[in-house]
Amino acid sequence: MRPFTPRLLRRKPPIRMQPAAQWRRSLHLAPPFLLDDYMPRYMMMSSVDSAMKRSRAYAHLRNCNLCPRECGVNRYETTGMCLIGDTAKVNVIAPHFGEEPCVQGHNGSGSVFFSMCNLRCSFCQNHDISHQRNGMDLTPEELGDWFIKLQQVGSVHNINLITPEHVVPQVALAILHAKDNGLRVPVIYNTSAYDSLASLELLDGLVDIYLPDFKLWEPASTKRLLKAEDYAATARESIKAMQAQVGDLCFTPDGIAKKGLLVRHLVMPGYEAEGEIIMRFLAEEVSKDCFVNIMEQYHPDAHVGKPKRRSKKGSEAEEITDDVRYADINRAVTQEEISTVRKAAEKAGLWRFCDPPKHDGFNL
Ligand code: SF4
Repeated sequence: MRPFTPRLLRRKPPIRMQPAAQWRRSLHLAPPFLLDDYMPRYMMMSSVDSAMKRSRAYAHLRNCNLCPRECGVNRYETTGMCLIGDTAKVNVIAPHFGEEPCVQGHNGSGSVFFSMCNLRCSFCQNHDISHQRNGMDLTPEELGDWFIKLQQVGSVHNINLITPEHVVPQVALAILHAKDNGLRVPVIYNTSAYDSLASLELLDGLVDIYLPDFKLWEPASTKRLLKAEDYAATARESIKAMQAQVGDLCFTPDGIAKKGLLVRHLVMPGYEAEGEIIMRFLAEEVSKDCFVNIMEQYHPDAHVGKPKRRSKKGSEAEEITDDVRYADINRAVTQEEISTVRKAAEKAGLWRFCDPPKHDGFNL
């Protein structure tokens, strides 16, 4: 007698198994991006190399050409365009929970917000810190001691240096000091990407994760909105140098990023075409496995939307007009603009994105 087989079961199509390589590529944590364990790069630096880094850091402070502004000043005596001398000015030091899930984890990212910046973005979302000298002055040794406090008291997953382009020698000296005093967590260099190659060379071996923005592409746009016509050309070279140092972003099995490159792009209203070009550049000239965060949170800030002032004829007094500054970016981004950049990224072959979790748990 034939065994009974329910009709529905018989009609059910066979389950097709996906090839292993296909499902592995959809996971950020899959090999080759998974590390068994991780030791920060500064831990592997010899005492000779550490001494050479220290001496180069002091030399840079005495003749500062560390960012593309190339002021050439002695920062022990005066300041350049960034208005910061030989001590770093720090606004906030604390565990921070506003970063990517793989960076902040469960305990937070040990964030150090530096005051001032070498760019002057008209829309800066942190302008109260980056356009104004606002905070406490710390020597490299004091800064390094704070790294240790963040590790010991805050149990943070990493030290996250935010807007550090103009204090690279101080940061290098602080990492070396903290290493000698027990620092053991990875270091993140969280930058606008307006860095010089000399400055990235000084950081080689000290930084584990590079977290650059790539803001805009066209020189006319960067001149108007960032006050740096050479921004995109500089960012292209900087990001390629960062990738050469640390490679693609890698994680330990707990989902925390430990080493590699994570690029952020803030979608700007009306500038989605430049975002598309940036995505193609990342895929073609950096890596198809580049981890990218396409950010949607732009809002008008800093100088955007402020009333324009006009000088009265024959008088020194200023008149406030009804017009606003940077009116074209005085709005939030649309869903369509965000999706245009995302589609361009996928079309270019990028696939590792910082997406919100598709489940109720943490996106780790
Ligand atoms: S870091 Fe400051 S002083 Fe040095 S080149 Fe840049 S803006 Fe000038």
